Amino acid sequence: MVQDTAVQQGPVYLDANATEPLRPAARAAMLAGLEQTGNPSSVHAAGRRARIMLEEARQTMASAFGREADCCVFTSGGTEADTLALHGFGRAEGRAILIGATEHDAIRKAAPEASLIPVDGQGVIDCMALEEMLAAHTPGTGDRPGPLVCIMAANNETGVYAPLRDVASLCRQHGAFLHVDAVQAAGRMQERDEFSLALKDGSLAGASLALSAHKMGGPKGAGALLLPEDRPLAPLLPGGGQERGRRGGTPALASHMGMAAALEESRKQDWTLLEALRDELEGVMVQAGALIMGHGVARLSNTISAVLPGVAAQMQLMALDIEGYCVSAGSACSSGKVARSHVLEAMGQGEAAGQAIRVSLPWNAEAGAVRAFGQVYALMAQRFAGRGLLKRSSLQGGGRAT
Ligand code: PLP
Repeated sequence: MVQDTAVQQGPVYLDANATEPLRPAARAAMLAGLEQTGNPSSVHAAGRRARIMLEEARQTMASAFGREADCCVFTSGGTEADTLALHGFGRAEGRAILIGATEHDAIRKAAPEASLIPVDGQGVIDCMALEEMLAAHTPGTGDRPGPLVCIMAANNETGVYAPLRDVASLCRQHGAFLHVDAVQAAGRMQERDEFSLALKDGSLAGASLALSAHKMGGPKGAGALLLPEDRPLAPLLPGGGQERGRRGGTPALASHMGMAAALEESRKQDWTLLEALRDELEGVMVQAGALIMGHGVARLSNTISAVLPGVAAQMQLMALDIEGYCVSAGSACSSGKVARSHVLEAMGQGEAAGQAIRVSLPWNAEAGAVRAFGQVYALMAQRFAGRGLLKRSSLQGGGRAT
């Protein structure tokens, strides 16, 4: 739902991949959940009522991805879902772990021992390299089970989609278990994107999926791990045996209801409108001298990863913040400083890894505000060029990185 209104008041929020604004339907569902006193595990009437609502949310989450309700394990977010998959399907089953080189820290930090699957200059998983790595790990008689392969459906910095159908097919051939971090892709699905296509043709039937509510327009601090089948999984939190023994702790009823409502809303959205607005803005940024990362391949409809050659990301962020625009750099440390992007480094983009900002349009982006951002960005680039920082000559008037 792109709104074509005048420029909005206050800071303009263009950092949806960090977190999406709450959708009204999610807020309403959460309020209904907050009204429930009962604990879904209690057997009395109040508990049973809460349980019914929780199970409705579970059904919504699971069926949207073609799974049975019992395959959905509610978690505290994407990080926990990823960590649970690495623990339950990886270490607990004695599998070697292979992860994409551009994975989010939710995967990278939880599996420091993992082997990295390289990506190409656009950020796309190198399937030939994956095949070689899998061949080295293919189980034989008496060996440990095939490896766990973790791949993100869409990258949080560049929006680049992974070739999931090819990856899944390789995993099947080599007896590997596939975990897909679908945190950025799941709430922004279009019929023709690779994640949707891989779900539709059954490629991901044997894979687990990590989901996060706040990337869909739901609340922060809720998520889910979808299992390929209703099976036991070694829990990170045994606790009271909730979630069929796969995740202890009283479930956050209101948050999970909010997540389910957000997901349903995201399915109704016409993402092509947002994509057209994104493309228009990207054109303005390129004219101003930006290089777009991953431009030549399929990406999330809302994401721009833009490099201003020669200009540190931190300087761009500060300049845009002063003008009232919330965007982010590839990677923000917990200290608040901007780090070099490990994603762009893995893509072999060298210096650009410290010069990229991410603009990610929220589901309710206002066209007027996005166009105003384009003007402010162009003026900023002009100022940096005037100070001799922007390396225009090497850009031949701006362009799109391949
Ligand atoms: N995976 C990806 C690709 C992400 O972008 C994020 C958050 O930015 C996460 C996992 C972690 O999700 P959460 O914030 O729900 O823990």
